[in-house]
Amino acid sequence: MSNETINLADSVIAQTYKRFPMVMTQGKGVMLYDSDERAYTDFTAGIAVCNLGHANSKVADAICEQAAKLIHVSNLYYTLPQTELAKVLVAKSFADRVFFCNSGAEANEAAIKLVRRYFYEKGETEKIQIISMKKSFHGRTMAALSATGQEKIRKGFDPVLSGFDFVPFGDIDAVKNAIGPETGAVMLEPIQGEGGVCCTDKNYFKALRKICDENGILLILDEIQTGMGRTGKFFAYEHFGIEPDIMTLAKALANGLPVGAMLAKEEFAKAFSPGVHASTFGGTPLVCAAALEVVRILTEEGIVEQCETTGQYFKEKLLWLKERHDAIEDVRGMGLLLGMGLNINGGRIVEQCMEKGFLINCIQDKVLRFIPPLIIETEAIDRLVSCLDDIFLKERAVK
Ligand SMILES: *Cc1c(COP(=O)(O)O)cnc(C)c1O
Repeated sequence: MSNETINLADSVIAQTYKRFPMVMTQGKGVMLYDSDERAYTDFTAGIAVCNLGHANSKVADAICEQAAKLIHVSNLYYTLPQTELAKVLVAKSFADRVFFCNSGAEANEAAIKLVRRYFYEKGETEKIQIISMKKSFHGRTMAALSATGQEKIRKGFDPVLSGFDFVPFGDIDAVKNAIGPETGAVMLEPIQGEGGVCCTDKNYFKALRKICDENGILLILDEIQTGMGRTGKFFAYEHFGIEPDIMTLAKALANGLPVGAMLAKEEFAKAFSPGVHASTFGGTPLVCAAALEVVRILTEEGIVEQCETTGQYFKEKLLWLKERHDAIEDVRGMGLLLGMGLNINGGRIVEQCMEKGFLINCIQDKVLRFIPPLIIETEAIDRLVSCLDDIFLKERAVK
């Protein structure tokens, strides 16, 4: 049965993804099941999306209840779920207003458009440049990929949008040197997820905030991967003692329903006046009801604190592995966004994990990324670590 599906899929679906030859049929918590009824402990969580686990029953109930009432009405009218979601996001963050859309890339599009429009309204039309980071990832639409500092994402899509300058992540002097009269914003991820779980520190973000203030430049944080509890705080910027002017969210916001959000302080948000930007689906009652339940569970059930503790436990275990195996160069990340830099190709490790019933992810060829649901327990982590230990021992024998 799985072969039939795979062959059909390969003949009718756009060939944009290199998939593993398995057909996923069901999930529960941190477990995923395929059509051959094999069980996997999932350390990918739909790429940092299903923070509350697969088929979370409370989120499923919220979706079912809302679906039976009202799925969509467009933004011609007010709805309660969208209003309440905006209210809780504003209450939990630095922001005053929220624009809803349907994906991470769209949220970044909105952020980029907002910066341009803000300076346009101000009459500072020269401020069209955004400083972005090398190895960043902001999505696949034209503006989002133009903001992305990875050649492989931009390749073959020229002319990409102009208006982006790239500097190395974590290098404050490079930002200073890149600022000119045309600079309107600095845009970055708190931790570079797709770029290889690359981290910098609190001092960097503090200095960045200061430079932005001194130069009248906006600070945009892409928290699409780091937000919603992933790093052990509700938003990653809370680790750094700073606030951005604009922040984008998506991925885990509705635990799997497609949603994006661009949050901003009033001064900037007001540049989006009626008719300036829009989305047909954005903030649909169905998705907002799911997201509201996600925020409620994360907050009321202590999941964010749990993520911080579990993440520390996991990181210590990965550091223990590093001491045992020369193939492991370093361990990095915060909360349950963890990466392991290797000096060998990670693809083989991913495949061997899969054979043993664990789903992990390899990025940038040599970085293993661990992004399980935030509800994962130490017992599952212990099982994975023991499996990785065996695999690395075997790899050494092969070498
Ligand atoms: C996943 C991701 C995006 C893109 O989100 P899509 O929903 O795939 O458009 C943008 N920025 C970051 C940091 C991401 O991790």
